[in-house]
Amino acid sequence: MSDVKRIALERIERLMEFAKRHAEDHPELAREAGKLALRIARKARVRFPAKYRRLICRKCGTPFYIPGSFTVRVRDRRSTHVVIRCNVCGYVKRIPAVREKKRRRGETENAKK
Ligand SMILES: [Zn+2]
Repeated sequence: MSDVKRIALERIERLMEFAKRHAEDHPELAREAGKLALRIARKARVRFPAKYRRLICRKCGTPFYIPGSFTVRVRDRRSTHVVIRCNVCGYVKRIPAVREKKRRRGETENAKK
C-alpha cells in the first residue's frame, strides 16, 4: 500500500473516532469530520474502512454516531435486506442480509492474494 493511502486511512480513522466522541455534544463538528473523512477517501482513492462504512452517509458525510441521524429498517420482500436512511439528506442504503456472509468471504480471499 502506498504511503498516501496509508496516511489517508489513518486520517479517516482519526476523523471517525473524533466524530464518535463528539457526536452528541457537537454534532456539527462530527459532521465536518465525517465530510472530511469522505473527501480524503475519495481523493486518496481508498475504500472507506469496513468498520466505518455503515456508520457514515456516503452522500453527505453525516456520521451516524449522531443521535437521530439515521433510521434503520429490515425489509423482507423477496430477499431480506436492511435499509439505512440518512435523515439529513435522505440517502438510502440497502444492505442485503443474506448475501452478506458470502461477500465477506470473498473479500478475505482476495486480501490473501
Ligand atoms: Zn446524508
